[in-house]
Amino acid sequence: MTITAFITGANKGIGYETARQLTAHGVTVLLGARNPELGQAAAAKLRAEGADAHFIRIDVADEQSIAAAAAQIEADFGRLDILVNNAAISGGLDGDGKPSSGTLATLRHVYETNVFGLVAVTNALLPLLRRAEAARIVNVSSEVGSLAGRTDPNSPMSQMVSAIPYTSSKTAVNMVTVLYALELKDTPIKVNAANPGYTATDLNANSGFRTAEQGAEPSVHLATLPADGPTGTFWGHIWGQEEYGRIEW
Ligand code: NAP
Repeated sequence: MTITAFITGANKGIGYETARQLTAHGVTVLLGARNPELGQAAAAKLRAEGADAHFIRIDVADEQSIAAAAAQIEADFGRLDILVNNAAISGGLDGDGKPSSGTLATLRHVYETNVFGLVAVTNALLPLLRRAEAARIVNVSSEVGSLAGRTDPNSPMSQMVSAIPYTSSKTAVNMVTVLYALELKDTPIKVNAANPGYTATDLNANSGFRTAEQGAEPSVHLATLPADGPTGTFWGHIWGQEEYGRIEW
């Protein structure tokens, strides 16, 4: 049986690596990208490595584009086994980057992609995920949005002063993850949030200390969970540790 995964924002960075690593599990990967040239090129690169990879045009901040992507996946594949909500933007920095310097325009812009887009994509694809034997939904989050980390004086997260948009968008993604997991708890569908760790990608001008290959590992792990795996968890790289594990919300 063919297992099919749709990864948003898969033309580069952690999303591309997630797609690449999933192909090693024999998964057919649908690379979601808003730029057709970049999406086609990424899919062609994976096909050149022998993968079954296809480009799907999607701008997660555009509901029409989401509906078109869902219709294309339904027409071409009939169902979906894995959804990795990976696409996100940082929103850059307003002023000195402190909460009090932020603009509502940036906050709205970041939420359109990171939160509203993720919910819209999930709702559009849930009918196809329900048709799969045991679907997996992975929401790519970040430890920077962990309320537990931010409020624990012993956590490095509590030492950082961060702008509101990106950070709080990931806190929202965490709650969205929990709510879907609760709604779907009596189904075979598992919904978890991944923490890639601080990864060198365009999102942070390549300042991260982990590689995109490493950053993709938590998403791939959660996308391929066995039947007795968890749902409603936040899992991945733990700052300062070698091992992956659960992260406090
Ligand atoms: P990246 O290299 O900037 O990749 C982001 C991807 O999302 C790109 O493919 C981008 O497409 C796409 N995207 C952005 N807005 C989109 C939209 N409206 N519609 C469709 N695609 C869109 O960043 P990354 O580091 O790989 O980020 C991947 C995920 O990991 C994100 O959820 C991020 O928050 C999370 N994360 C990253 C880190 C880190 O340290 N890098 C840490 C924790 C969590 P374009 O090429 O068209 O812009």
